[in-house]
Amino acid sequence: MSHDHDHDHDDHHHEQDPLALRVEALEQLLVERGLVDPQRVDALIQHYEEDLGPLNGATVVAKAWTDPAYRARLLADGTAAIAELGFGGAQGEMMVVVENTDDVHNVVVCTLCSCYPWPVLGLPPSWYKSPEYRARAVSEPREVLREFGTELDESVDVRVWDSSAEIRYLVLPAQPAGTEHLGMEELAALVTRDSMIGVRQPLSSEPEKAGSAA
Ligand code: FE
Repeated sequence: MSHDHDHDHDDHHHEQDPLALRVEALEQLLVERGLVDPQRVDALIQHYEEDLGPLNGATVVAKAWTDPAYRARLLADGTAAIAELGFGGAQGEMMVVVENTDDVHNVVVCTLCSCYPWPVLGLPPSWYKSPEYRARAVSEPREVLREFGTELDESVDVRVWDSSAEIRYLVLPAQPAGTEHLGMEELAALVTRDSMIGVRQPLSSEPEKAGSAA
């Protein structure tokens, strides 16, 4: 797997970049002055990482599960089909959707930094940005998947997609068996962030609503 990972993008999400440092400095200053509660900031970020952002992607997936014509459009032109549902913009200008099937399992990584489809997934989790994940998702994807609790049959072809400044990938997970009767909203609740990165399968039944902070 190789591609030209053009990294002259204005990398607002790069860990070393000046903007991130400024934001960090500002937060520290606000905390010191007692204007901001750092735990509150962390909670907000966590909310965006785990709930708000991925809900957009989950809506896209649920729509694809329930509407074959939409699914076809999504796989043919991810950016346009995602925009149909009102999602798009920075860090999602060129979206490619890859479909998990009985024979193929897709995993997304950014080997050089942390390119990630913000409009559909929100902010990347910290493990996604870690050097370990970035290297091992490519060198030993099956082992990484196993650590996430995702056991795949040897016959399944694991495909690793390297996100870049130009192209961001979204995994369309396979719809869990026995969920055909569910509506869009119930289906979307099964679609976790990690299942759209490809490291886990979607949930097979609705999660507990109360105290579900994971
Ligand atoms: Fe990147």
